[in-house]
Amino acid sequence: MPSTSRKTQNFTESVIRRMTRIANEHGAINLSQGFPDFDPPRELTAALANLAPAGPHQYAITWGAENFRLALARKQSRLMGIPVDGDRHITVTCGATEAMMAAMVSVINPGDQVIVFSPFYENYGADAILSGAEPLYVPLLPPDFGFDRAVLRAAFERRPKALILCNPSNPSGKVFTREELLYIASLAEEFDAWVITDEVYEHIVYKPAAHVYFAALPGMAERTISCSSLSKTYSITGWRLGYTIANEEVTGIIRKVHDFLTVGAAAPLQEAAVTALNFPGSYYQGLLDSYTKKRDLFLRCLDEAGLSYIKPQGAYYVLVDVGEFDGSDDTRFCEWLVREVKVAAVPGSSFFKTGEDGGRISRLIRFHFAKKEETLRLAGERLGNLKKIWAARGYGTENGDISIER
Ligand code: GLN
Repeated sequence: MPSTSRKTQNFTESVIRRMTRIANEHGAINLSQGFPDFDPPRELTAALANLAPAGPHQYAITWGAENFRLALARKQSRLMGIPVDGDRHITVTCGATEAMMAAMVSVINPGDQVIVFSPFYENYGADAILSGAEPLYVPLLPPDFGFDRAVLRAAFERRPKALILCNPSNPSGKVFTREELLYIASLAEEFDAWVITDEVYEHIVYKPAAHVYFAALPGMAERTISCSSLSKTYSITGWRLGYTIANEEVTGIIRKVHDFLTVGAAAPLQEAAVTALNFPGSYYQGLLDSYTKKRDLFLRCLDEAGLSYIKPQGAYYVLVDVGEFDGSDDTRFCEWLVREVKVAAVPGSSFFKTGEDGGRISRLIRFHFAKKEETLRLAGERLGNLKKIWAARGYGTENGDISIER
């Protein structure tokens, strides 16, 4: 067969999606890939059902249906406290995944450097490969996942084209403080870099933390490409509705990249989602209350199981320290956990690129808690047996230590 592209040779299978596959094979509770097992708001599914006969069923305008962009502009202007214009600043994409890719392709030249905080959501690695960027990893340091200002400054001194900012952060649950963001802003200005944000968890920020939109910091709207989506906010990860908000000039470029990548996001789903974008403020309070309960419930389960973790300030993930079991191979440990305890997590090494070993192994594994309370309670019961099962047989199981194909 003719050879395939060099770019793809550096791709690994998504560890998150792989863990989902293994969880399904073993009938485990899937706390690896972060998506809800509960329904979206009823008004939203009703809106979708109502429009099925009449449509729209053909392409929307490539950069997003007009009423979707207007509703989104109203919501985001209010939230972000800056003027967001649906005609000039918004591009509707197939999920935040496409938003990030389109943003990077729009500003990166092959060989440009891009700062990525580690641990980071695995897609940024692939985005860098596809856009030809060389990632410069800057560690976020547990337990609060702050960064060393001198290290960040040194990274900027290498003149990167952009910095990727996931806030609230996946997988750490870190919510960047205003002071941290102002420091990043001062460097972005001094070294004239873009800041590409991933703010898909903007509505899931636990008190007393508070979300600060990077684009709303003084002078930052011009150099920020804000990416987000409706997936987590309205529990519709399968609808694949995301967007970028950026200045008019770069929006023109993002729209062209987006047009050639996908033409557009699904027209009927954009139409139905206008209902959600017009939800009152009480909806977002309800969402946060519900996730706060889920977080507290799951953290109690971890306490009862005797597992230590880093308390998340935002998003719906928690990093749990499993160094006392197998501190040398977190992937093997996660495979064991799926098989023997029937709960799936993501090995921390898939998120870290920094650390003493270059992030090849991690004591931390990631669970998500975007699940019904009954699912979380059942996962808690199973995790309550983890120490007992490990003490009884460790990796030497009655099934043998089946190694799962990697
Ligand atoms: N963002 C979710 C996670 O980190 C889902 C990832 C995905 O499969 N796109 O688990």
